[in-house]
Formats: sequence, C-alpha cells, structure tokens
Amino acid sequence: MSGDTELIMTAFQKLVVFWRASQWQTAGEAGLNPTQGEVLQHISRRSARLGELAEQLGVSQASLSDTVSSLEARGLARRRPDPDDGRARRIESTADGQRAVAELSMAPVELERAIEHLGEEERGAFARALVRIIRMLQEADAIPVQRMCVTCRHFRPFAHADVARPHHCAFVDAAFGDARLRLDCDDHEAAPAKEAAATWRRFEMA
Ligand code: SF4
Repeated sequence: MSGDTELIMTAFQKLVVFWRASQWQTAGEAGLNPTQGEVLQHISRRSARLGELAEQLGVSQASLSDTVSSLEARGLARRRPDPDDGRARRIESTADGQRAVAELSMAPVELERAIEHLGEEERGAFARALVRIIRMLQEADAIPVQRMCVTCRHFRPFAHADVARPHHCAFVDAAFGDARLRLDCDDHEAAPAKEAAATWRRFEMA
C-alpha cells in the first residue's frame, strides 16, 4: 500500500470512529440505538418494504425486522399494506417518528462545520472522489447499490463548459457541480446497463 493510500485509509478509520461515537450519543439522548436512529431516518424520508430497506442499509432482513418491531412498539414506525401489492407491507414512520427524527441530528455538527470550512472547489473534488470510491465498492459488491447520479438515466456528466457546474440533470433540466452529486436521490431512475457504463466512463475520464 502506498503512503498516501495508507494516510487516506487511516483518516477514514478515524472519521468512522468519530461518527459512530457521535451517533451513539445523539441516538442515546433520544432513547434509541444508532441502528434504530438510522432506520427511522430512512423511513421518515420515504416508506419502504423490509427487503428494500435491508438492501439499502446493508443489513439482514431478520435483524432489520427486530429493529422495526422495536420502533413499532414505541409508536415511531408502522407497517402498512403496500398499495402496489396487497400481500406486501411497507414500513413508514408515524407522526411521533417524524418528530423524533427532527430532533435527531445523526451527522456530527463538528464534521459538518469542518467540511463547510473547505473551499467550494475542494468540496467538489472531495465529493467526486467519494462518489468514485463508493461506485467502485458497489461494483465489487462490497456495499449496497444506491440511487446515485452516476447510475441514473437523467445524469449527463460534463455536459456543460462551466467548470463550476459541468453536469446536467435532465429530470430537473438544470446544471450542477460535483458538490451536488447525489448518492440517494428520490428522483433517481436506473439507467440501462450499457447506458450506465457509458455514463460512468464519461464521468471517470473527464
Ligand atoms: S434525477 Fe437525481 S440522481 Fe438522477 S441525475 Fe438528477 S439529481 Fe442525479
């Protein structure tokens, strides 16, 4: 391993430890464990079937079911019949769950401030590098596939000459920069495999 790779790996490790400790603290203050807090945050954004949610979070359906049951017991989540399939159920947050999420800031504020302190260009380069790392981990089946710009049929990488906002989202018909690349977008529509591969090549080569 080269020296700079080792430095980056060590930095990731330190940030993960810090983030996890912060999650334990904020979730604990709300009477939740970090996994419950994470699940609640996901279902407060949109309802999901158990299998979908387990895939997004990278956990087993059995352990997720236990977590959802504990949230249900506290009145923070509920399972409802899926309107698209009467035999399936969707998990959603209740009004109390939404209120709990509003009080539950899972992102450490100190880290947010440190990132904000970087210049716009630095944030953009950092965001782009992270997207590339995440995409490669997904391709290696190491982490779950997310609804990222780089796999979306609406994404047009480097469609504009403007270096600050080179990409284009055809869904909202707007240009945007690296710092606005999405990792989990509600409007994402998966591109067909060939198209996604071509988009990824354009994104990587630029
Ligand atoms: S719809 Fe969302 S994921 Fe797709 S390109 Fe636009 S912002 Fe990115």
